[in-house]
Amino acid sequence: MTEWEAVIGLETHVELQTKSKMFCGCPVDFGDEPNTAVCPVCLALPGALPVPNREAIEGILSIGDALNCTLTEDSLFYRKNYFYPDLPKNYQISQYTFPLCVDGHLDVDVDGESTTVGITRVHMEEDTGKSTHVGESGRIHGAEHTLLDFNRAGVPLVEVVTEPDIRSPEQARAYGMELQRIVRALGVSDARLEEGSMRFDANISIRPVGSEELGTRSEVKNVNSLRSMQRAIAYEITRQIEVLESGGSIHLETRHWDEAKGVTKPGRTKEDSADYRYFQDPDLLPLHIDDAWRERVRDRRPKLPAAKRARYRELGADERAADLLTDAGDLGGLFESAVAEGADARTVAIWLTGEVVAYLRREETEVGETSLTASSLARLAEMTTGGDLSATAAKEVLAGVLAGEGNPRDVAEARDLLQISDVNAIEAEVDAVLEQHPQALEKLREGDPKPIGFLVGQVMRATGGKADPRMVQDLIRKKTQE
Ligand code: ADP
Ligand code: MG
Ligand code: ZN
Repeated sequence: MTEWEAVIGLETHVELQTKSKMFCGCPVDFGDEPNTAVCPVCLALPGALPVPNREAIEGILSIGDALNCTLTEDSLFYRKNYFYPDLPKNYQISQYTFPLCVDGHLDVDVDGESTTVGITRVHMEEDTGKSTHVGESGRIHGAEHTLLDFNRAGVPLVEVVTEPDIRSPEQARAYGMELQRIVRALGVSDARLEEGSMRFDANISIRPVGSEELGTRSEVKNVNSLRSMQRAIAYEITRQIEVLESGGSIHLETRHWDEAKGVTKPGRTKEDSADYRYFQDPDLLPLHIDDAWRERVRDRRPKLPAAKRARYRELGADERAADLLTDAGDLGGLFESAVAEGADARTVAIWLTGEVVAYLRREETEVGETSLTASSLARLAEMTTGGDLSATAAKEVLAGVLAGEGNPRDVAEARDLLQISDVNAIEAEVDAVLEQHPQALEKLREGDPKPIGFLVGQVMRATGGKADPRMVQDLIRKKTQE
């Protein structure tokens, strides 16, 4: 039996959230009435001329920079010719030779194992309009008519193409997640798969383990979640192995992922790049990006997810918490500031990724909208490690702070949660409990440790849960030795 290896390369489209479209001043604003954000340029009326959008170019450069690419000095715009009803010009302005960014890489981790995925290129494109096929099928086949909305036509689109360096569906998913995090960290797109502002095409082939040659690939489109992408790739690998092992062959084709059935179905056979009749757009000059511009892009690079993760771990968050904090936007910053104010990293990480995340989800709000601050977290952590609050009481105080009841000390007092720190007061309770339970005390004295839990529980109950259980236990031990 042949042992097979999967070879995967991903193409990702990201819609940029710029103020205006790629080559005209129409607003990039989804949810408008159809065909209201349009003009002669994006409707391709005769004589209209495109003007590149600086903000979009910078967005692309910042993605390329974050993916460790070389930012090219001179870049060219091409026309990619094809007919489609939602493409008014009958060509898309894209890039071919001399894209804006080339030769980068991105490291992805799966189960603690890191793989470097080469980035072939990051280039500029423009989006098409949107077709809605009206009819029972919802697809073009069997549709009664098709509605066209050109509001999206000409929205800046970035394409990120990887080398065929990915070897498993899990790695593909991890790559997708990391790219999504990066794009969001850069603030250039909301990168939502469900809404199509981030879209993946997965190219998949298989080859015998040890072989250096690439097999024939199929390209799976239509995946609208990272989970679907992972499933589609896994399905495609199995399908290709079955085809090859039963003596068949794989054709270069696009396939569509059917989420409900969990299978890929054949689409069209793929065009060759020659079919697109690429040529340089005569309406656009070559784009020269000088050193100063590239320098500015690099200077503006924010702290990227990988660096944040490493930083949170270094501060004391465990692996899972560091991932969660990285993904949770503002929470990561709050964590860092709270630790800077002296809070215990582990405790704060647990609160933020547990109670706080749950609260924000439940209330459908952002942490910035709550009264939780780095210093209130630090005070709360201090009260907990200092023995003023039990772990359980601390969570209750946290809930009060989130709900806007005041600072941790006020909440703890108002909710009557402060632990009794007066040793004499606790000792009196301990004495009372021991007096009520002489047999338990006797057993302890004889060296049977079992009753200790029971006795601590009795004291906790007598103090309304406000004694420090460790202190209670120490006191009982001391009494046993008297
Ligand atoms: P196209 O636009 O025709 O899909 P591109 O060159 O833009 O071509 O993208 C090809 C993608 O497919 C890249 O991500 C590349 O890594 C990947 N790829 C190319 N050959 C193979 C192969 N044999 N198996 C898997 N992936 C491949
Ligand atoms: Mg492709
Ligand atoms: Zn326009």
